[in-house]
Amino acid sequence: GGPVATGTVADAPKSKLPRGVVLGKDGKPCRSCTSFADFKSIKSSLVSHPHTTTPTVPPPDCPPDVEALGRSSWTLLHSITASYPASPSPTDQSNVKQFLGLFGKLYPCWVCAEDFQDWMRENRVRAESREEFGRWMCEAHNGVNRKLGKREFDCSKWEERWRTGWGD
Ligand code: FAD
Repeated sequence: GGPVATGTVADAPKSKLPRGVVLGKDGKPCRSCTSFADFKSIKSSLVSHPHTTTPTVPPPDCPPDVEALGRSSWTLLHSITASYPASPSPTDQSNVKQFLGLFGKLYPCWVCAEDFQDWMRENRVRAESREEFGRWMCEAHNGVNRKLGKREFDCSKWEERWRTGWGD
Protein backbone atom coordinates (compact mmCIF):
# COMPACT_ATOMS: atom_id res chain seq x y z
CA GLY A 1 0.00 0.00 0.00
CA GLY A 2 1.03 3.57 -0.60
CA PRO A 3 0.41 6.73 1.34
CA VAL A 4 -3.04 7.31 2.77
CA ALA A 5 -4.25 10.56 1.30
CA THR A 6 -7.83 10.90 0.20
CA GLY A 7 -8.32 12.64 -3.09
CA THR A 8 -4.68 12.33 -4.11
CA VAL A 9 -4.34 8.62 -4.62
CA ALA A 10 -5.41 7.73 -8.14
CA ASP A 11 -8.75 5.93 -8.23
CA ALA A 12 -8.78 3.05 -10.64
CA PRO A 13 -12.01 3.73 -12.56
CA LYS A 14 -11.43 7.42 -13.25
CA SER A 15 -7.84 7.25 -14.38
CA LYS A 16 -5.60 4.67 -15.98
CA LEU A 17 -3.25 4.86 -13.02
CA PRO A 18 -3.24 1.87 -10.69
CA ARG A 19 -4.49 2.24 -7.14
CA GLY A 20 -1.99 3.60 -4.64
CA VAL A 21 -0.08 5.69 -7.15
CA VAL A 22 0.15 9.30 -5.98
CA LEU A 23 0.67 12.07 -8.49
CA GLY A 24 3.23 14.79 -7.94
CA LYS A 25 2.40 18.49 -8.23
CA ASP A 26 3.65 18.24 -11.82
CA GLY A 27 0.89 15.73 -12.60
CA LYS A 28 3.32 12.83 -13.03
CA PRO A 29 3.49 9.80 -10.73
CA CYS A 30 5.43 10.76 -7.60
CA ARG A 31 7.93 8.03 -6.80
CA SER A 32 8.75 9.22 -3.27
CA CYS A 33 5.00 9.36 -2.50
CA THR A 34 4.28 5.82 -3.75
CA SER A 35 5.36 2.34 -2.64
CA PHE A 36 7.73 0.52 -4.97
CA ALA A 37 5.14 -2.21 -5.62
CA ASP A 38 2.48 0.34 -6.62
CA PHE A 39 4.95 2.34 -8.69
CA LYS A 40 5.97 -0.80 -10.60
CA SER A 41 2.33 -1.58 -11.27
CA ILE A 42 2.14 1.46 -13.58
CA LYS A 43 4.49 -0.34 -15.92
CA SER A 44 2.94 -3.77 -15.50
CA SER A 45 -0.54 -2.33 -16.15
CA LEU A 46 0.74 -1.13 -19.53
CA VAL A 47 2.33 -4.38 -20.69
CA SER A 48 0.32 -7.10 -22.37
CA HIS A 49 1.10 -9.85 -19.82
CA PRO A 50 -0.97 -9.02 -16.77
CA HIS A 51 0.27 -12.10 -14.90
CA THR A 52 3.91 -11.18 -15.12
CA THR A 53 5.13 -10.80 -11.55
CA THR A 54 7.08 -7.71 -10.69
CA PRO A 55 9.39 -7.48 -7.67
CA THR A 56 7.86 -5.75 -4.64
CA VAL A 57 11.13 -4.83 -2.93
CA PRO A 58 13.12 -2.08 -4.61
CA PRO A 59 16.67 -2.92 -5.70
CA PRO A 60 19.17 -1.12 -3.42
CA ASP A 61 20.37 1.26 -6.13
CA CYS A 62 16.94 2.62 -7.08
CA PRO A 63 15.60 6.04 -6.05
CA PRO A 64 13.72 5.62 -2.74
CA ASP A 65 10.02 4.80 -2.65
CA VAL A 66 7.77 6.22 0.07
CA GLU A 67 8.75 3.48 2.52
CA ALA A 68 12.53 3.58 2.06
CA LEU A 69 12.43 7.36 2.28
CA GLY A 70 10.29 7.15 5.43
CA ARG A 71 12.51 4.62 7.22
CA SER A 72 15.65 6.63 6.47
CA SER A 73 13.98 9.85 7.52
CA TRP A 74 12.71 8.46 10.83
CA THR A 75 16.22 7.13 11.48
CA LEU A 76 17.59 10.64 10.99
CA LEU A 77 14.82 12.34 12.98
CA HIS A 78 15.00 10.01 16.01
CA SER A 79 18.81 10.12 15.89
CA ILE A 80 18.65 13.91 16.05
CA THR A 81 16.56 13.63 19.24
CA ALA A 82 19.08 11.09 20.61
CA SER A 83 22.01 13.45 20.11
CA TYR A 84 20.07 16.47 21.40
CA PRO A 85 21.44 17.91 24.67
CA ALA A 86 19.78 16.83 27.91
CA SER A 87 19.66 20.54 28.83
CA PRO A 88 19.42 22.45 25.55
CA SER A 89 20.25 26.14 25.21
CA PRO A 90 17.69 28.55 23.74
CA THR A 91 19.69 28.35 20.48
CA ASP A 92 19.51 24.54 20.46
CA GLN A 93 15.76 24.77 20.90
CA SER A 94 15.28 27.33 18.19
CA ASN A 95 17.52 25.32 15.81
CA VAL A 96 15.36 22.20 16.01
CA LYS A 97 12.19 24.21 15.54
CA GLN A 98 13.61 25.85 12.44
CA PHE A 99 14.89 22.51 11.17
CA LEU A 100 11.53 20.80 11.57
CA GLY A 101 9.70 23.74 10.01
CA LEU A 102 11.89 23.44 6.92
CA PHE A 103 11.87 19.63 6.99
CA GLY A 104 8.07 19.76 6.84
CA LYS A 105 8.26 22.01 3.79
CA LEU A 106 10.99 20.08 1.97
CA TYR A 107 10.00 16.46 2.65
CA PRO A 108 9.96 14.87 -0.83
CA CYS A 109 6.65 12.98 -0.42
CA TRP A 110 4.32 15.94 -0.65
CA VAL A 111 1.21 14.24 0.75
CA CYS A 112 3.30 13.09 3.73
CA ALA A 113 4.73 16.60 4.11
CA GLU A 114 1.35 18.31 4.12
CA ASP A 115 -0.05 15.94 6.75
CA PHE A 116 3.10 16.31 8.84
CA GLN A 117 2.83 20.11 8.70
CA ASP A 118 -0.83 19.85 9.80
CA TRP A 119 0.21 17.57 12.66
CA MET A 120 2.89 20.04 13.76
CA ARG A 121 0.38 22.88 13.75
CA GLU A 122 -1.72 20.90 16.26
CA ASN A 123 1.29 19.57 18.19
CA ARG A 124 3.94 22.26 18.46
CA VAL A 125 7.55 21.06 18.77
CA ARG A 126 8.42 20.43 22.44
CA ALA A 127 12.18 20.46 22.93
CA GLU A 128 12.99 21.86 26.37
CA SER A 129 14.95 18.69 27.13
CA ARG A 130 16.18 15.60 25.27
CA GLU A 131 13.55 13.52 27.02
CA GLU A 132 10.76 15.88 25.98
CA PHE A 133 12.00 16.15 22.39
CA GLY A 134 12.43 12.37 22.05
CA ARG A 135 8.87 11.83 23.28
CA TRP A 136 7.51 14.48 20.96
CA MET A 137 9.20 12.82 17.97
CA CYS A 138 7.86 9.43 19.05
CA GLU A 139 4.35 10.90 19.17
CA ALA A 140 4.85 12.43 15.72
CA HIS A 141 5.88 9.02 14.38
CA ASN A 142 2.91 7.39 16.12
CA GLY A 143 0.63 9.91 14.41
CA VAL A 144 1.83 8.56 11.05
CA ASN A 145 1.68 4.96 12.31
CA ARG A 146 -1.98 5.47 13.23
CA LYS A 147 -2.78 7.05 9.89
CA LEU A 148 -1.24 4.06 8.10
CA GLY A 149 -2.93 1.51 10.37
CA LYS A 150 0.40 0.42 11.89
CA ARG A 151 0.99 -0.53 15.48
CA GLU A 152 1.87 2.34 17.81
CA PHE A 153 5.29 2.37 19.45
CA ASP A 154 5.55 2.53 23.26
CA CYS A 155 7.10 5.99 23.70
CA SER A 156 8.52 5.12 27.14
CA LYS A 157 11.04 3.06 25.12
CA TRP A 158 12.14 5.68 22.59
CA GLU A 159 15.52 6.15 24.24
CA GLU A 160 16.38 2.44 24.26
CA ARG A 161 15.40 2.18 20.62
CA TRP A 162 17.27 5.27 19.43
CA ARG A 163 19.95 6.26 21.98
CA THR A 164 21.13 3.76 24.58
CA GLY A 165 20.25 0.41 23.00
CA TRP A 166 18.40 -2.35 24.83
CA GLY A 167 21.33 -3.32 27.05
CA ASP A 168 21.31 -7.01 26.11
P1 FAD B 1 8.91 3.05 10.06
O1 FAD B 1 7.58 3.62 10.42
O2 FAD B 1 9.73 3.75 9.03
O3 FAD B 1 9.75 2.98 11.43
C1 FAD B 1 11.12 2.59 11.46
C2 FAD B 1 11.43 2.03 12.84
O4 FAD B 1 11.18 3.03 13.82
C3 FAD B 1 10.52 0.88 13.26
O5 FAD B 1 11.02 -0.33 12.80
C4 FAD B 1 10.51 0.97 14.77
O6 FAD B 1 11.63 0.28 15.34
C5 FAD B 1 10.71 2.44 15.03
N1 FAD B 1 9.47 3.13 15.39
C6 FAD B 1 8.20 2.93 14.92
N2 FAD B 1 7.36 3.81 15.46
C7 FAD B 1 8.09 4.59 16.29
C8 FAD B 1 7.78 5.67 17.14
N3 FAD B 1 6.54 6.15 17.25
N4 FAD B 1 8.77 6.23 17.85
C9 FAD B 1 10.04 5.78 17.77
N5 FAD B 1 10.41 4.76 16.99
C10 FAD B 1 9.44 4.16 16.25
N6 FAD B 1 4.14 6.94 4.50
C11 FAD B 1 2.96 6.91 3.87
O7 FAD B 1 2.63 5.92 3.21
N7 FAD B 1 2.07 7.97 3.96
C12 FAD B 1 2.39 9.10 4.67
O8 FAD B 1 1.60 10.05 4.72
C13 FAD B 1 3.64 9.15 5.33
N8 FAD B 1 4.02 10.25 6.03
C14 FAD B 1 5.26 10.31 6.56
C15 FAD B 1 5.68 11.49 7.21
C16 FAD B 1 6.96 11.59 7.71
C17 FAD B 1 7.39 12.87 8.38
C18 FAD B 1 7.87 10.51 7.58
C19 FAD B 1 9.29 10.64 8.11
C20 FAD B 1 7.48 9.35 6.97
C21 FAD B 1 6.18 9.22 6.46
N9 FAD B 1 5.74 8.05 5.82
C22 FAD B 1 4.51 8.03 5.21
C23 FAD B 1 6.58 6.82 5.82
C24 FAD B 1 6.14 5.88 6.96
O9 FAD B 1 6.08 6.55 8.21
C25 FAD B 1 7.13 4.71 7.15
O10 FAD B 1 8.44 5.21 7.28
C26 FAD B 1 7.10 3.70 6.02
O11 FAD B 1 5.79 3.23 5.82
C27 FAD B 1 8.03 2.49 6.33
O12 FAD B 1 7.53 1.91 7.53
P2 FAD B 1 8.26 0.81 8.37
O13 FAD B 1 7.18 -0.15 8.81
O14 FAD B 1 9.44 0.28 7.68
O15 FAD B 1 8.77 1.52 9.72
